[in-house]
Amino acid sequence: MSSSKAPIRLAIVGVGKIVRDQHLPALARDASYHLVAAASRNATVEGVANFATIEEMLASDVVIDAVSLCQPPLVRYEAARAALEAGKHVFLEKPPGATVSEVEDLKALAARKGVSLFASWHSRYAPAVEGARAFLAGTVARKARFIWKEDVRKWHPGQAWIWEAGGFGVFDPFINCLSIVTHILPPLYITRATLDFPENRDTPVAARMDFAGANGLAASAEIDWLQTGPQSWDIIVETDAGELLLSSGGAKLAISGQPVKDEAEREYPALYERFAHLVRAGKSDVDVAPLRHVADAFMLGRRNVVEAFFD
Ligand code: NAP
Repeated sequence: MSSSKAPIRLAIVGVGKIVRDQHLPALARDASYHLVAAASRNATVEGVANFATIEEMLASDVVIDAVSLCQPPLVRYEAARAALEAGKHVFLEKPPGATVSEVEDLKALAARKGVSLFASWHSRYAPAVEGARAFLAGTVARKARFIWKEDVRKWHPGQAWIWEAGGFGVFDPFINCLSIVTHILPPLYITRATLDFPENRDTPVAARMDFAGANGLAASAEIDWLQTGPQSWDIIVETDAGELLLSSGGAKLAISGQPVKDEAEREYPALYERFAHLVRAGKSDVDVAPLRHVADAFMLGRRNVVEAFFD
């Protein structure tokens, strides 16, 4: 970059739902960035240089400081390696990769190349998460429940990759819960898991898990992708200072039934502020804790075959 105040010349890879819903609107309002390019096989972004692949983009004469990788996790590692090898700072959508090892490898590569790597966890920036973290820091958590129940047909219509091996299935949304839990609660580890796999799919549609932590902390999770009607993205924690309810995916907080004032939602603007800060400070932020829990669930979990799923 020409100077520390100059906008970061950013490229986006994998132009799909999350890029259109969140990345482009957040970037349009952030003077720290100048969006210069996009790489996507079937889509383009207006007003920037467009390429079909990241390799073509990196080989072009467009000057790029950083790339945001927004494809499905299974194909992100090769793209991230190429970008880091080319000396670019890298922002990884969640989940940061398809395996823990590949993310650790990217972290080491970023350090060797002297560039920033950001494994983004957007739910950690949900409006009520910091309030929940502050409350829990001042008390003792005894018991927790994580209830993540949503309708896959509504939120992921026709997305084939989430059902393919490496696509995470119902753990694609539940890793958002895990990213909050690993930020606000003391360390937990999975002690038991049952994963329901539709007979025609590679990834689970529902799961139940138990967790344990130090000082008798016990937690359980119920996750389901076939929830019609009201959707639940709730974290409930019984503490010595009352019951904490962090609901709507981290957007709302209540303590012992009393709502705590709502803050405005700005997850992606906050993610991009964090990334700019990391780039300017020459630092990385790569926390694999949520991904490790998913790996543990797949490793420890009992496989239960359930009826076929069709979109
Ligand atoms: P998506 O729209 O299905 O995929 C994003 C784009 O990636 C696609 O439009 C496609 O663009 C490219 N792509 C798809 N499959 C590919 C493949 N096999 N190889 C190379 N490129 C491929 O998915 P999304 O919902 O935006 O999610 C992308 C990532 O963001 C996921 O990790 C997801 O967990 C995360 N995320 C999603 C949401 C959400 O609400 N959807 C929210 C937060 C985070 P081209 O065909 O043009 O290459």
